[in-house]
Amino acid sequence: MHYYYDLHLHSCLSPCGSDEMTPANLAAMCALAGLEIVALTDHNTCGNCASFCRAAQAHGLTALAGMELCTQEEIHVVCLFPDPQRAEDFSREIARHLPPIANDPDYFGRQLRMDDGDGILGEESAFLAGSTDIPLYEVPRLVAAWGGAAFPAHIDRPAFSLLGVLGLWDPDLGFSAAELSYRCPPELARRPDLAGLQLLTNSDAHSLDQIWGAEHTLDLPEPTPQAVIRRLACQPGTLSG
Ligand SMILES: [Zn+2]
Ligand SMILES: [Zn+2]
Repeated sequence: MHYYYDLHLHSCLSPCGSDEMTPANLAAMCALAGLEIVALTDHNTCGNCASFCRAAQAHGLTALAGMELCTQEEIHVVCLFPDPQRAEDFSREIARHLPPIANDPDYFGRQLRMDDGDGILGEESAFLAGSTDIPLYEVPRLVAAWGGAAFPAHIDRPAFSLLGVLGLWDPDLGFSAAELSYRCPPELARRPDLAGLQLLTNSDAHSLDQIWGAEHTLDLPEPTPQAVIRRLACQPGTLSG
């Protein structure tokens, strides 16, 4: 079965995420847009994932808890987990690898932790959008240790991307999927070094108006977080459909 997905969304816990991107608003907008499988992936934190998953499930959506991790090399990687508990455990581990910088809400924006009913639980004081000291090559193993799967984000963009930083796709890194931004020129997807990879396109929405209508589908045996993770964790060359 093919399911409409968006596996890269930010909430108001990302400093660059709009305050209107509460877990409740985000879930409602995803449902209105006709999406079926959605993931919350704030910068270097899973702090709003439990609230988002509850809100999204109330709309009948399949919801994954995730994070957009920034590596030592300033490469963004989307990490997805089978449940909010494991995502929060992973998030606590990542917090130890963030630079000791406080957020400046006036400059970077607020970082709000919210419940699933638009109540504010608190404001994160550590600056979340910096780079961790985790090297890119460690990410697949680290995420798999928490039962998750990971794919490099917006690889066609010049900044904060695998191709922008490394210049080429290295299959030895162990990623089986990669994300192309919606602005990606079609010829880039046909690069020989990307052959055999599962290429995803997500909105990377930071505000409600950036959430797309249902456009891209994922072929899965069942609409569950586990099925998404199993598919993205496949080795290159074994994917079909
Ligand atoms: Zn990014
Ligand atoms: Zn993002």
